[in-house]
Amino acid sequence: MNEDKLLPNEDYSKCQELTNCDSGSHTNCKGSCGEISIPKSKKHFAVINPSKMCQPMGAVQVLLGIEGAMPLIHGSQGCSTYLRFQMCRHFREPVNISSTSMSESTVVYGGEENLLKALDTIWREYKPKLIGVTSSCLTETIGDDMGLIIRKFRSKHPDEELPPIIPISTPSYSGSHVDGYDKAVKSLLENMAVQNQTNSKINIITGNISPADIREIKEILEIMKCSSIILTDNSESLDAPHTDSVSFLPPAGTKVNEIIDSANSKATISLCKHANSGAKFLKKRFDVKSISGPLPVGLKNTDKFISAICKIQNCDLPEKLEKDRGRLIDTIIDAHPYNYQRKVAIYGDPDVVSGLAGFTAELGMIPTVVCTGAESNRFMDDMKEVAKESPTKPSVMEGCDLYDLQNYIKDNPVDLLIGNSYGARIANEENIPLFRVGFPIYDRMGAQRIPIVGYSAGISLVDTLANMILEKYYDASGWEIE
Ligand code: SF4
Repeated sequence: MNEDKLLPNEDYSKCQELTNCDSGSHTNCKGSCGEISIPKSKKHFAVINPSKMCQPMGAVQVLLGIEGAMPLIHGSQGCSTYLRFQMCRHFREPVNISSTSMSESTVVYGGEENLLKALDTIWREYKPKLIGVTSSCLTETIGDDMGLIIRKFRSKHPDEELPPIIPISTPSYSGSHVDGYDKAVKSLLENMAVQNQTNSKINIITGNISPADIREIKEILEIMKCSSIILTDNSESLDAPHTDSVSFLPPAGTKVNEIIDSANSKATISLCKHANSGAKFLKKRFDVKSISGPLPVGLKNTDKFISAICKIQNCDLPEKLEKDRGRLIDTIIDAHPYNYQRKVAIYGDPDVVSGLAGFTAELGMIPTVVCTGAESNRFMDDMKEVAKESPTKPSVMEGCDLYDLQNYIKDNPVDLLIGNSYGARIANEENIPLFRVGFPIYDRMGAQRIPIVGYSAGISLVDTLANMILEKYYDASGWEIE
C-alpha cells in the first residue's frame, strides 16, 4: 500500500473541521479521525496479486456496449490478446478487439502508419458504426497523437461517410480499468453529444457492472415507465443469446444516435461514483442535471436510486417495486440469525466494494476489511459512511493488492470472502468460503448472469450469502458448529 497516497477527502479543511484530524494534510492521512482504520502494508516493494486491471480493459467494455462498434487498441498485439482472453473467460462470449500491432520498429519511428492502416482495414472490412481507439502503455509513452492521426485519416477519405472515430486516452501505467471505463464514456460524450432539442429521457451511466445488472436496471426503468439512454448497454453483446448468425461487431447495445442525443436528456445518473466524468461533462457543457451514485446495491442504496428517478419523473414508487422492497426486507429479517455478526472481507472495484460493504452492514454482518486496487478519495468517503452502519469500523485498504489483504486476514480472521476469482487462492489457503462477484470470474460459470443491483437481486444475494454461511458453519442438523 502506498501510504503517501491516502487521500480521504479532496476538501481537507472540511475533513479537518468534521473530524478534528491532526494529520496535517490528506497526504499524511492515517485514518486518525477514527472513522475508519487504515492497516499498514507489510511490503513496499511490488504489487503481488493485483486487485485491478489496466485502463483499456474498462474502455473496451464501454465500446462493446455500443451497437456495431469496433474497439481498436493502439498498441502491441499482446494488449488486445490479454483483454480478449480475460473477457472471453469471464463473459463466455467471443470478443473482437482489433489492434494496431505495434512492433519494435514502429515504436522507434512512431505508430502513425500502423494506426492509419488499421483504421483503413477496419473501415473497409467491417464497416462499423463507430470505432473507439484506445491507447496503451506503449503508445502513450512514445507520445502518439491519436486525435491528429484520426484527423489525417479523415482528410485522406474526404468523399466517404466515415463513422465516428473516437480517441480514448488510456495510459495503463496509471489508474485502473475503472478509470478506463470512465474516460471512454467521457470521450464518447465529448466527441458526439449534440444539443438540439429536448427529450424526456434519463441517461444512465452504468459503470463496470454485469450484463445481468444492466438488465435489472432496464427492468426497473421499464416498471417506472422511464425512457432512458444506457451509456453503455452490453447486456446483449456480452451475454448474447445463441443464434444462427455470426457477427464480428456487437449486434445490439446503445445506438450511436442515442449517444448523440444524450445532451438532450433531463438528467444523467451515474450508478458508479467512479464513472461520473461523462455526467459532469454533460452538466457543464449542456446543463444536464447530474446525479452520482451510489451503486444501487442493497436496501438503502436502491432506495436512493429509485427515489432519484421518482423525483426526476415526478412519480410515486410503483407497486411492483414496493412489493420487491418489502420482500427484500423480509429476506433480510429471515436471514438475520445466520448473517448477524459474521465477519466479511470484500475486495474489487471501489463502487462494487462500497455497495457490498454497505449491504453487508445492513444485513448485520461486519465488513471487517475492504480492499480495492484503485486509489480513490471517494472510496474512503464511502467507507466512512459504511462505518456509521457497522458496529466496528472497517479496515480500509485503498490502492492495495490481494497480498496485503491476505496478510490482514491471517491476523484478523473473517467468515466470508466477497470478490472476484483473484481471491480464490486466498479462500483455499485460509479455508474461507468465497462469494464470487465482480470482474473477472473465470473459475465458475455464469459470471455475466450475477446481478447485485436493485431489490430483486438483493433478495437472491441475501439468500446466497446466508446459504454459504449455513453450508460452512452449520452441521447437517442445522446446529451451528462451535
Ligand atoms: S498494461 Fe499496458 S501492455 Fe499490458 S495489456 Fe494493458 S495496455 Fe497493454
